[in-house]
Formats: sequence, C-alpha cells, structure tokens
Amino acid sequence: AKGDGRGVHRFFADEMLAGARTRKLLEDDLRVAVSEGAFHLCYQPVVSTDSVRIVGYEALIRWNHPTRGLVSPADFIPVAEECGLIEAIGEWVLRTACSEAVRWPDTIRVAVNVSPIQFANPVLPALVTSALAQSGIAAGRLELEITEGVFLDETRSSEQMFKALKGVGVRLALDDFGTGYSSLGYLRNAPFDKIKIDQSFVKGAAEPGNRNAAIIKAIVTLADTLGMETTAEGVEVQDEIDLLRDLGCSHIQGYVYGRPVRAEEALRQLGVENGA
Ligand code: C2E
Ligand code: CA
Ligand code: CA
Ligand code: CA
Repeated sequence: AKGDGRGVHRFFADEMLAGARTRKLLEDDLRVAVSEGAFHLCYQPVVSTDSVRIVGYEALIRWNHPTRGLVSPADFIPVAEECGLIEAIGEWVLRTACSEAVRWPDTIRVAVNVSPIQFANPVLPALVTSALAQSGIAAGRLELEITEGVFLDETRSSEQMFKALKGVGVRLALDDFGTGYSSLGYLRNAPFDKIKIDQSFVKGAAEPGNRNAAIIKAIVTLADTLGMETTAEGVEVQDEIDLLRDLGCSHIQGYVYGRPVRAEEALRQLGVENGA
C-alpha cells in the first residue's frame, strides 16, 4: 500500500512537472512568435437573421507554430495572459483587424476579442483610438468583445473603461454570455450593444424538449428589452437557424454560414454578397 501511495504521488509530480515544462516551452515559443509576427487573423461571418446577409466578421487569431502547426487560441491566449504577452498580442490583433477590415464595404463591421487584462489597462481607449486613426476605419464599425471576466476586478474602474470606450464610439459586445460568473447586474450597468449567446446554449437547442431553447428565449427577451442585439454562436445546422429566428435572435454566427477565413477570402465573400 505504501508503494502504491508513492507511485501515485510520483505520477502526479511527474505530470505537474511535464505540464509546467510544456507551458514554459509554449511561453518561450510565444515570445519568439510575438517578435517574429507568426500570427494571422481569420474572420468568421456574422449574419443578420432578417436579411440573411453578412453584416460583419469576428476576428480570430491564429498561430502557426514552426513544429506544432496551428495552435488553438484557446491554448495560447491563457498562457499569453499569464506571462504578460497579451498586451502586445492584443494590440497587434486590434491594429491588424482594423487595417484589414477597412477594405471591406463600409456597412460591414469587425469584432475583436479583448482580454480582461487589456480591459483593465487604462491605455486601452487610446490604443483603440490610435488603431482607428491609423487604419481610417470608422469607430462605429469596430465592436469589442469582452467576457464576464472583466467584472471580476474592481467594478469602479471597469465603469470608467466602459464610459471611455463608448466615448471613442466603438460598439461593445458581451461575449460567451451565460458561461461565466453571470450576474444580471452587469447588464443593468454596462453599455453593451450586443449579447453573444454562447454555443453551449445553441448545441441541442433545436431538439424537441431541449431546455436550451427556453434559456435562449429568456436571453433574447432580456436583450430586446435593454435595446441590445443578440448573436447566437456556434450555429451549425439549419434547424438551429430556424429556431433562433423563431426566438427572435438578431444575428447568427457559426459553421452553418461559414468557418473563419483569411481577410482576402472575406473580401471575396463580401463581393459576392453585396455585389461590390
Ligand atoms: P470565442 O470568442 O467564443 O470565439 C468563437 C470560437 O468558436 C472560435 O474558436 C470559432 O472558430 C469557434 N466556432 C465558430 N463557429 C463554430 C461552430 O459552428 N461550431 C463550433 N464547434 N465552433 C465554432 P477559436 O477561433 O478557436 O477561438 C477560441 C477562443 O480563443 C475564442 O472564443 C476567444 O475566446 C479566444 N480568442 C480567439 N482570438 C482571440 C484574440 O484575438 N484575442 C483574444 N483575447 N482571444 C481570442
Ligand atoms: Ca468572441
Ligand atoms: Ca464567444
Ligand atoms: Ca467561447
């Protein structure tokens, strides 16, 4: 029994060490990637439920690692947040998204994910202003997606940040709604233009008797009442489109309308879509 105990202990110790090592390697590689510019953005269409037309794109970062291939942002963004690289990466995303999107028709919006760490930095409004000026894109075409994580810090400074960003004229979206430490108080006090309904609520929602449909309906009703748009994420099949339209959801994003593509491909999609 004693031997087993030690075995178990060693197993966990080795695993933790391997985890830390992997993370350190990832961190080192990430530093190189930042200095060498090994990232690019892909853009996923956001479609209006009413017009069934593309009204915008969400920018999603991609890292092409020299040996590992494409590393998911779900894996490297948390590392970047921990080791202080998220500021540099986030600035690059913001500037790149604005300068690529400015070539699209001027009715088309671009959404950019903003980490809670960026949101906590008072320099963000100036950075956004600079990215807008440098690219020449109108402020109203840029939407910043933030998660409920921004509310975990001091609410006082987040309130000032919301004011400053609205002052710059950009749109604000609450990302992954319902998955974090959701509090309806956030919706009462923060000036969101849009709520993004997480894909975990969309999954299965179109199946008979699924409770997700009721939750989506409640979120849409709440958003409507507060004058906010809603985007359902992770929509994969026509049945889900039909349901979301019935529930009054204003926008749809997901593989059913398109996977994330490079900026040039988005330009082509828009040319066909808008006859430009
Ligand atoms: P997110 O902001 O919730 O982005 C949506 C994710 O869902 C994307 O994954 C997208 O490719 C994926 N997706 C879209 N449609 C479907 C669908 O129909 N089915 C399924 N199964 N998945 C779908 P991705 O690109 O791997 O990004 C993962 C997460 O990484 C993002 O989640 C976001 O939290 C983060 N992220 C991505 N780019 C950035 C960035 O530039 N900055 C920051 N701070 N975070 C980013
Ligand atoms: Ca997002
Ligand atoms: Ca999301
Ligand atoms: Ca998500």
